[in-house]
Amino acid sequence: MDQKTRFDAAFSAQLDALRAEGNYRWFANLERHAGDFPRATRRHAGGQGDVTVWCSNDYLGMGQHPAVAEAMKAAIDSCGAGAGGTRNISGTNVHHVELERELADLHGKEAALLFTSGYVSNWATLSTLGARLPGCVILSDALNHASMIEGVRHSRAEKRIWKHNDLADLERQLASIEPGRPKLIAFESVYSMDGDIAPIREICDLADRYGAMTYLDEVHAVGLYGPRGGGVAEREGLMDRITVIEGTLGKAFGVVGGYIAASAAVCDFVRSFASGFIFTTSLPPAVAAGACVSIRHLKESDAERLAQRRAVALLRARLDRLGIPHLPNPSHIVPVMVKDPVKCKLLSDILLDEHGIYVQPINYPTVPKGTERLRFTPSPLHSEADIDRLASALHGLWSQCALARAAA
Ligand SMILES: *Cc1c(COP(=O)(O)O)cnc(C)c1O
Repeated sequence: MDQKTRFDAAFSAQLDALRAEGNYRWFANLERHAGDFPRATRRHAGGQGDVTVWCSNDYLGMGQHPAVAEAMKAAIDSCGAGAGGTRNISGTNVHHVELERELADLHGKEAALLFTSGYVSNWATLSTLGARLPGCVILSDALNHASMIEGVRHSRAEKRIWKHNDLADLERQLASIEPGRPKLIAFESVYSMDGDIAPIREICDLADRYGAMTYLDEVHAVGLYGPRGGGVAEREGLMDRITVIEGTLGKAFGVVGGYIAASAAVCDFVRSFASGFIFTTSLPPAVAAGACVSIRHLKESDAERLAQRRAVALLRARLDRLGIPHLPNPSHIVPVMVKDPVKCKLLSDILLDEHGIYVQPINYPTVPKGTERLRFTPSPLHSEADIDRLASALHGLWSQCALARAAA
């Protein structure tokens, strides 16, 4: 064997192990239909067919909103395709500046800072804060997103993981840290896989008592919660108690990009020291322009949020009637629990191939082994007929695969 073959064999062996566990990832090749959310054409080896997408993080269909698309087209016509540089070297466009103002306003903060994705915003901000505050300890919720975990790891700051949403454990750990050391509590509002929501107020109370900063990932909440779509902290009147609010432009706002909103000093600090902010080409101006329109729209309009809530309630009611087990939670995320990676994949394949229903199976390592699930995200644009079709397909599959029903 030559070198290349030897390396490829090593890679293939690990991929085979992944396949054997049922955890190998297959991507559905979709062509989304502008103006017809949640419909898409799926292309596959055997041909192509139309599907209803049930697992998009474009939670409100804003990625296809005519005003958003128009703003993007207009910005391409006026500014061209790319930003042309890093923020420091010719890549700061009027649309970036305007968007940062819009985001600071959304969260009631002095400033905001854009990144190329939510992942990068978490990674860059946490790693910079943790690395540059001498003696800093980061207290990280056990279910934090990979981007936060990587940021904390990269900071090389001391890390304490507290049990998910467990105030007693958080307090115990805060109390055990020398009082003079800088502390940062990092957590999320809506957790994406279980759809549960953190006790933000109580965490802020603990932060006050122990003199800690707070870092809140509102990626699955911005656009969706609060009267202006500022997230769960807005809904609960807590935005001013959070040191750093982090969000994405790629989920409910329907475009792409990430950001933090915080004090002018924090944003300036991250702007000045974060490698993941400094050394990368800024977002295309058209992306910033589209995001700006999307945020403004959701600041004014509650219609999408209300219709989404109705769709979520309707799907839950249908599942309950049929005894299809799903995690109860106070959010817009409906995790249907299959608890087996192979069956989870099989169900998703049958839904796709026989019912034109696309939901990606969620397996390890995204969720713990034994909690494999289908994660449904009903949107304002899923009709009652879509929901009925989904529920009846699941009903049939639950019998066909001899899966356990929930007590009625
Ligand atoms: C998706 C996600 C991110 C990353 O946001 P992107 O804009 O998609 O990079 C960050 N945090 C959480 C909790 C997420 O689910």
